Amino acid sequence: MNEQRPSLRSKIAQLRAKFIEQMPGRVDEALQHLAQLRVDPNQTTTAANLHRFLHSIKGTGNSFGFEELGTIAASGEHLAARLLEMPANVSVEFWDELAEVLARIVLSTETLRQHGTSSAQEHDVPHFELASVDDSEGAGGRLIYICDDDPLQVKQLATQLQCFGYVTVTFTDPAELGTAMVAKRPSLVIMDIIFPDGISGTDVLTAIEREMDHPVPAIFISARDDFEARLSAIKAGGEAYFHKPVNALDMVTTIDELTAQKKPEPCRVLVVDDEPVIAAYHSLILQEAHMITYQVHKPERVLEVLKEFRPDLVLMDMYMPGCNGRDLAKLVRQVPDYFGLPIVFLSSETDKCKQFSAMRVGAEGFLTKPIQPDDLVAAVAIRAERMRALRMLMARDSLTGLFNHSTTTQMLENAIANAGRQNESLCFAMIDVDRFKVVNDTYGHPVGDQVLLALARVLQQRLRNSDIVGRYGGEEFAVILRGISLEAATHIIDQLREDFAKIRFHAGEVEFFCAFSAGVAAFPQCKGMKSLREAADRALYQAKEGGRNRVVANNE
Ligand code: GH3
Ligand code: MG
Ligand code: MG
Repeated sequence: MNEQRPSLRSKIAQLRAKFIEQMPGRVDEALQHLAQLRVDPNQTTTAANLHRFLHSIKGTGNSFGFEELGTIAASGEHLAARLLEMPANVSVEFWDELAEVLARIVLSTETLRQHGTSSAQEHDVPHFELASVDDSEGAGGRLIYICDDDPLQVKQLATQLQCFGYVTVTFTDPAELGTAMVAKRPSLVIMDIIFPDGISGTDVLTAIEREMDHPVPAIFISARDDFEARLSAIKAGGEAYFHKPVNALDMVTTIDELTAQKKPEPCRVLVVDDEPVIAAYHSLILQEAHMITYQVHKPERVLEVLKEFRPDLVLMDMYMPGCNGRDLAKLVRQVPDYFGLPIVFLSSETDKCKQFSAMRVGAEGFLTKPIQPDDLVAAVAIRAERMRALRMLMARDSLTGLFNHSTTTQMLENAIANAGRQNESLCFAMIDVDRFKVVNDTYGHPVGDQVLLALARVLQQRLRNSDIVGRYGGEEFAVILRGISLEAATHIIDQLREDFAKIRFHAGEVEFFCAFSAGVAAFPQCKGMKSLREAADRALYQAKEGGRNRVVANNE
């Protein structure tokens, strides 16, 4: 059972009660509109307000499960539409019919108030079984146990994994591994299959895992490459199998996948609805599905909020005072930054022609109120996630997955502005692979790509979450380190250099190593983006001139 359910239910109950509470005041206002229109049916703004009121009560009433209220309001909306279309042609009975609708709304709300809103038809509150996310962060999340009876093999593999930022503990005796696993849970275990005295690694691990609450992901390594050995590894819960000699670089890719602990960023949804209770209601449903929402009740605030909130999707009402959803969507679309932003209408408008007309401004969908919570979540999640994926593709380099040149530049600009405001320091490092052309010429382009991938992984895994890593160009990378001195940043980059230089690359049977040079510069010593970049570039040039495989800090 989802823990948030009771609180969600009570929050929705509060919204429904609030809606009913506000009704007498709102009906009074509608009665005043009616009185004015009886005198002069041509007051189009007043007629539009009355129509919007009835439309809104229909939508909100139905969304909250107040079906009688929804039906009454729908009949009123129908009447008010006639007033909008042909104000001159309405009869005396027409006014009485509208007055009757308002009276019935009062009666229906009064019944709801007396009997409690809970008697209404409730929509089922959604219940989402999201995969539980492991909250363990930090070094523990990167702890790997390696168990192999060959001390040399264990050490070599451990050294290679350490280059990528993993913390390794090695064992040659399977019994010791068992004790350690129970004492401190690693995020992954790498296990040999054949041990001396006929001990089987798969049996040992199966026995250990039986003692654990939930299994630790396991990778088996073995000199054997036969079906039987592979099957025993599968039966012991092995997630991957590597035939010795193990290529550590290949293994890192698998380990990264198995130990990935980055939680997916929640989708951000902007909810635009002039009816605060219904905006709050839809927001609650989306929040329950782990989305972040922001509500806007006044269309004129949309542009300002879009800039700050940066949503992945906008959920938009159709009828709002001053500006309808169709015009608002069109207006948003005309801002180049929001050209691709998904806009989904959520309205009780059932007229297909009006729906199509609204969609024509380039909206992604039209949902009708009342909507089942599950359907709302599904419709929003699919479109918002697609937007996410697209944004990600646009912002990142396809080979390494790092930020591309333009995103990195943008981020550097923002980071400098931020550091200036907060009175903080910031460092910028330019990294360039040494003699990379030789790697390509000797071993081929695909092997060169492997080197770039490995460097990308080293940078990404070893730097803090707050640091920004980008691929600046071919074999050039850029790193932005926030809130850090030039000396400290240079030290960090130099450690990365040492690690990278230790990685063994393979081209067929041949083994080789690579290195990089780097130049580091600091803000506020360098005042703006241009001078920071140039200073880092000059330091990089010095590192190359000085013999490569080194890091130079620009102290000018
Ligand atoms: P230096 O130590 O002075 O930096 O020498 P270098 O050989 O690394 O520098 P140079 O700029 O002469 O060569 C860079 C090479 O990087 C040339 C280019 O073909 C290669 N390169 C650029 N992008 C990629 C890529 O995506 N994949 C591969 N495999 N090679 C790339
Ligand atoms: Mg270069
Ligand atoms: Mg180079």
